[in-house]
Amino acid sequence: MRKCIDLESQPGFQQIYSPELQQAIDRGLAGHSGTGVVDWGYTPPGGTKPVKPVNPPKNVNPPTAVDKLPDYKNGNHYKVKNAVKLGSDDYFDYLFNMHGTPEMRAIINMFPPIPIVQENRGFFRNWEGEYGAVHTRKGSGHDIGTLFHEYGHALDHMMGIKSGLNDSLSTTLGYSTLVMPQFIEDGVDMGLVFDDSAYWEYIEANGIDTTFGGNTKFKIAKGSDRQHAEEKMKPGDHWRVMDYLLGKVKVDLKNANNAKNPDPVKVKRAEEMKARIEKLHDLHIKRIKIAKDIVTQLEDAINPGMDSELYYQIWSVHDIIDGLSGGEIFDYAESTGESVLDAGHPPGYFSMRKQDDREGPRNYSVEGAQRSTRVEIFAQFYQFYSYQDKSMYKIMAKLMPKSAKQFEKIMKDSYNIKV
Ligand SMILES: [Zn+2]
Repeated sequence: MRKCIDLESQPGFQQIYSPELQQAIDRGLAGHSGTGVVDWGYTPPGGTKPVKPVNPPKNVNPPTAVDKLPDYKNGNHYKVKNAVKLGSDDYFDYLFNMHGTPEMRAIINMFPPIPIVQENRGFFRNWEGEYGAVHTRKGSGHDIGTLFHEYGHALDHMMGIKSGLNDSLSTTLGYSTLVMPQFIEDGVDMGLVFDDSAYWEYIEANGIDTTFGGNTKFKIAKGSDRQHAEEKMKPGDHWRVMDYLLGKVKVDLKNANNAKNPDPVKVKRAEEMKARIEKLHDLHIKRIKIAKDIVTQLEDAINPGMDSELYYQIWSVHDIIDGLSGGEIFDYAESTGESVLDAGHPPGYFSMRKQDDREGPRNYSVEGAQRSTRVEIFAQFYQFYSYQDKSMYKIMAKLMPKSAKQFEKIMKDSYNIKV
């Protein structure tokens, strides 16, 4: 067990939500994971965990790199309304100036420029420099989407600092807290977020001791709360336990009824738990279908052809679904072999579960896990909001109407932040 992680099991630690400690943990994880980076950007197909597309692209895979960059050095792009000149590579200015809206550029220009560093992937580090640093692609097939997304994280952090929200909530990337309730409300309306308390209550009351029908022992001690239960789960285990519980509650009820002198209280409790677990299992299965339907509708509506940027937009919605489901759709796919989403974050990013067989969890509190969901959906919304082509934003506004309304409001409100 790593020392930096073990801090979390110290009494009182979970009550502290310190950005510095979070950073230390992130850095510790970054160092130990071997990648050297914190995974703020999502993983498209072919990333750390290749996934089979539900709907394979009709032709072939879109190109991942461009042969030739556009002519951005002539400076013509600075002639647009509210042009940005951020002082990093002019190429990134070009992307904002040629592919963003004047409104999004006006917002960028209200705040100090955030440094942009060329990298072969996208992520944001909030601890680099005064306001953090954006790391993003140059010469990939989806430079625009990556830059808009990562700059969305950066503005979430910047607006959080300048509005005082980061300080008052002891968080980083705090502006997105203003739209988190709507993300969850829409998630509930979409059937992607639901009450799963029966699952954790069952584990806490009874523990888990099984082999999932094979030889591998899987145990969670009775009395384990959600965090302690989740930290025992590697990718796929969450769904394996769900499946196991579906059978176990039937056995529990049978045993309660077959006791020598059946205790009516115990029988009633077993009946109730069986009903709750069955309902929860149903909700999970329904959610898989809902996710698949959205995936299909997106491809039909966007018709990406060979356009990597359009694929990136589609994958960004897959990541929203991944975030709202707390990583559980990928967990289901891992367990069943049935692919649902084409892109998302690595295991454990949106939950308190293990990242793989070797690594421990990334998050040790529900707040930590939900923070990932919050900042990612915010960055996706910012990305869609920024494109001149509003097709994907319109789709999102239909899928998540409460979020879109509130997001637009807080973007307008950002003009009043004193910088
Ligand atoms: Zn991100």
